[in-house]
Amino acid sequence: MLNQPIQLVIIGGGPAGYTAAIYAARAGLCPILYEGPQPGGQLTITGDVENYPGYRNGVMGTDMMEDFKAQAERFGAIIKEGIITKVDFSIYPRLLMLDNGEQITAQAIIIAAGASAKWLGLPSEKRLYGKGVSACAVCDGFFFKNETVVVVGGGDTAAEESLYLSKLCKKVHMLIRKGHMRASKIMQERVLKKENIQVWFHTEVKDIIGQEAVAAIELIHTTSNQTHIIDATGLFVAIGHQPNSAPFLPYISVNKHGYIQVEPGKTQTNVPGVFAAGDIQDPHYRQAVTAAGTGCMAALDAERFLQNQSDHSIQKNL
Ligand code: NDP
Repeated sequence: MLNQPIQLVIIGGGPAGYTAAIYAARAGLCPILYEGPQPGGQLTITGDVENYPGYRNGVMGTDMMEDFKAQAERFGAIIKEGIITKVDFSIYPRLLMLDNGEQITAQAIIIAAGASAKWLGLPSEKRLYGKGVSACAVCDGFFFKNETVVVVGGGDTAAEESLYLSKLCKKVHMLIRKGHMRASKIMQERVLKKENIQVWFHTEVKDIIGQEAVAAIELIHTTSNQTHIIDATGLFVAIGHQPNSAPFLPYISVNKHGYIQVEPGKTQTNVPGVFAAGDIQDPHYRQAVTAAGTGCMAALDAERFLQNQSDHSIQKNL
């Protein structure tokens, strides 16, 4: 038996979800937020956040997300553990299925389930995950103190991971598949200045060597086809993210990379009463502050939707 429909369910406990919860709770919508598989979102696996306005000395990602959560709870948002694994958006109220088997219904939904790290796709990467292969320097860097590690990627994440690891490790090799880095100028300069970071351009991982743990990394120079072995005990993959939109795909329109499509300048998806905020709908900016901004927009859009629904049902009963 299904319980009474919840007015507003927010899916995802990152900056977008918590901001939506703050606004929705203050508007009296009694939102319930499901935190998903990574409570706090991607900011909990990053280090210092230096570019979120208001924290002039920077803040640890985990601390910032604790602040977001506490602020949402202060206004009455209910934060729950749980992952939405399946939905049925063909019915109203909308049906949501949780990983514990529970089913709930909601009058409005904000999808703020974020994005997850991408992987290289090598069989050895899968086999050695957690045994030297990682996508999070802040989580796992400690295990490679004074050792040699490899970071894959040329974006801001890879630059940030390399800089973080350079403080702990003897040597960091950063592999960039093109002839240039995609990272911002300031991050590139920081990386190139670091004596113990060696940057390899036009270079990819051919294989990860090791049975029980990473023992070495085989590289390939993509223009000369020459291979090279580095005696590294850690491999950090930092090649971007993919949106966590899979559970919603049967109903929700996405672009070719899986990012949820919303009405321009709004958060409304193709399904009435279902809104999207944060990285799951943003392939361009992907910042905590932009995620928080769209979380606010989604709460306001959901509030208007619910108000219209209630006006409509009052009129029907007149
Ligand atoms: P990006 O998409 O910006 O960069 C991904 C990098 O990985 C690129 O260099 C890309 O190469 C490379 N890559 C992708 N696939 C492969 C592959 N299969 N093999 C090897 N290399 C690969 O992702 P990020 O996670 O770095 O950044 C995402 C967003 O978050 C950006 O907007 C960034 O600015 C932002 N960010 C900001 C931070 C900050 O301000 N403190 C910190 C971290 C991220 P190629 O260029 O050839 O495609």
